[in-house]
Amino acid sequence: QEEYLRKPEWLKIKLNTNDSYKGLKKLMREKRLHTVCEEARCPNIHECWAERKTATFMILGDVCTRACRFCAVKTGLPNELDWQEPERVAESVQVMGLKHVVITAVARDDLRDGGANVFAETVRKVREFNPGTSIEVLPSDMGGKEENVQTLLDARPDIFNHNIETVRSLTPRVRARATYDRTLGVLAKSKEIDPTIPTKSSLMIGLGETKEEILQVMDDLRSVDVDIMTIGQYLQPTKKHLKIKKYWTPEEFQELKEIALSKGFKHCEAGPLVRSSYHADEQVNAASKA
Ligand code: SF4
Ligand code: SF4
Repeated sequence: QEEYLRKPEWLKIKLNTNDSYKGLKKLMREKRLHTVCEEARCPNIHECWAERKTATFMILGDVCTRACRFCAVKTGLPNELDWQEPERVAESVQVMGLKHVVITAVARDDLRDGGANVFAETVRKVREFNPGTSIEVLPSDMGGKEENVQTLLDARPDIFNHNIETVRSLTPRVRARATYDRTLGVLAKSKEIDPTIPTKSSLMIGLGETKEEILQVMDDLRSVDVDIMTIGQYLQPTKKHLKIKKYWTPEEFQELKEIALSKGFKHCEAGPLVRSSYHADEQVNAASKA
């Protein structure tokens, strides 16, 4: 019999849904779009969609060519590239009245450009339809190729986010194909190509890493000049995924946040329910003030 850790009180939250939320879900189906907010059953969805006017779209289909052991996205043969998707995302951002949008994508290892061209087109269309909305991109490593990072930065997103996900020692067990150094390399390239665009990266904890290893991730991200860091609790999406080894407490998260700020990050969100896109609207200003 496998044993599971008991879920602590601070993670027991009630999903708050209402009519406007149902309408938005319908809009997503009509436009054939996917959001991480829904797919990951993110507990922050009410706060983000209704109050903060933030959402995270997942483009380039809903089937990933990789199978990371923490992630609930389906793996398999990817969807055909859809050049109309950029416009549908742009229209949805408009209908939702978003102030900040995060655009992420499945890994498209089947494509030479890793999907960078459709991704860049999505940024352009969203901007064209929504000039007041800040745009954060959260791409896969796109094969780690500089030209793909360049393609995406040419569309001038407000934040370039690329997740480190876990500490170095756990990376081979947790992530598929991605490597720790390639992730740092992509973040470094973004800074080299356009130092005016803030960079950001997220770490999940609770997979068995030590505090020292977490602090090392902070130093590694700072070594390539990453501006914004988020740290959240890993939650197991299904029984087939990696088990939770530890629930870090709210106090421990607070301490990690303070350490991150002392290491020079311009902004850090850390907490049990923090996701890569959580409170992302605040980070645009924090990073540009620097
Ligand atoms: Fe969506 Fe991110 Fe907000 Fe969760 S935290 S609801 S994934 S925007
Ligand atoms: Fe999930 Fe991204 Fe890994 Fe694909 S590459 S399985 S979408 S975390």
